[in-house]
Amino acid sequence: MMKNRVLVTGGSGFLGSHLCERLLDMGREVICVDNFFTGSKSNILHLLDNPYFEIVRHDVTFPLYVEVDEIYNLACPASPIHYQHDPVQTTKTSVHGAINMLGLAKRLKAKIFQASTSEVYGDPEVHPQAESYWGNVNPIGLRSCYDEGKRCAETLFFDYHRQHALRIKVCRIFNTYGPHMAMDDGRVVSNFVIQALKGKDITVYGDGEQTRSFCYVTDMVDGMIRFMENTADEFIGPMNLGNPNEFTIRELAEAVIDLTGSKSRIVHKALPSDDPMQRRPDITLARDTLGWKPTVDLRTGLSRTIKYFEDRLNSL
Ligand code: NAD
Ligand code: UDP
Ligand code: UDP
Repeated sequence: MMKNRVLVTGGSGFLGSHLCERLLDMGREVICVDNFFTGSKSNILHLLDNPYFEIVRHDVTFPLYVEVDEIYNLACPASPIHYQHDPVQTTKTSVHGAINMLGLAKRLKAKIFQASTSEVYGDPEVHPQAESYWGNVNPIGLRSCYDEGKRCAETLFFDYHRQHALRIKVCRIFNTYGPHMAMDDGRVVSNFVIQALKGKDITVYGDGEQTRSFCYVTDMVDGMIRFMENTADEFIGPMNLGNPNEFTIRELAEAVIDLTGSKSRIVHKALPSDDPMQRRPDITLARDTLGWKPTVDLRTGLSRTIKYFEDRLNSL
């Protein structure tokens, strides 16, 4: 029997590598397209023996001609350090990348998933954020290349849907963490875990009273696949996926110190510009349409993440 062939752009990144693994487990043939800007071969090494897994080194800002049944478009650096390294390239990846993948989906009549982000809500004035909220985004700040790039990609997805009847799934992903996060990406979970394991100071930016809601990666990938596989045409999104349990950054630091048994101390550093004060997803839509909700609590997910980084540090 012919296997369903799935393209995953950004497939060697943090989320992409878990997604490729799950799709292979489900019996799909997977083509992973990545330019290895932030992704790493080590994330997908364990998949290379699988004859139904294929890697293509390619930048999605250039046209791509492959034959597939479904596309998951994840290519885009996700952490501020990485997306601010070359902001023009970040916007190009989101916008030109979306145009090329939508053009590909149009030619193939393939269903296409977009990894959008809670950052489309900017620094939200509404709490928690439901999909109907239009956001409060600075168009000219340091985060704009990412936020506005992702917003423009959403626009393109909906216009291809309206103009060309494309089957789209637009997913707004909230903070996700777990194994395969890059060591150097500056995101809060990887920073705190590595600092704690090395016995270094834990760097809380600002007073640490800002909040985030952290979703463990297996829960996220489960939600993404359920959304994509849901055949009801009206569920095109945008759909929030994330964990609604909200914690302050200080609470996160304390949990990491506790779980690692580290002697690290908390120190405070300046808050980056445009850093949102509060973020929590309203996941009513995902719960009602997909029957999905996160199952891994913060301490369980953190313990698995700590184990991963411990192994990585020991192997250096
Ligand atoms: P990541 O940086 O680990 O993965 C992104 C992948 O895309 C990397 O493998 C990178 O090499 C690749 N890539 C970047 N530019 C590319 C290009 N021009 N052509 C081809 N490949 C390119 O980040 P992640 O956390 O796995 O994020 C995956 C997707 O999910 C991103 O689109 C991100 O915006 C979105 N997202 C992630 C989170 C999160 O908390 N992790 C939250 C919201 C949205
Ligand atoms: N494209 C691609 N692969 C394909 C088909 C299209 O990469 O299999 C790219 C191509 O670069 C094109 C873009 O997708 O510019 C948008 O395609 P679309 O058909 O929407 O627009 P057009 O070709 O008319 O510009
Ligand atoms: N943060 C922190 N210390 C760090 C890294 C991040 O206090 O070493 C804070 C950051 O200011 C923000 C929150 O943690 O308020 C989440 O930051 P991250 O970059 O992980 O994600 P995002 O801001 O995109 O949600």
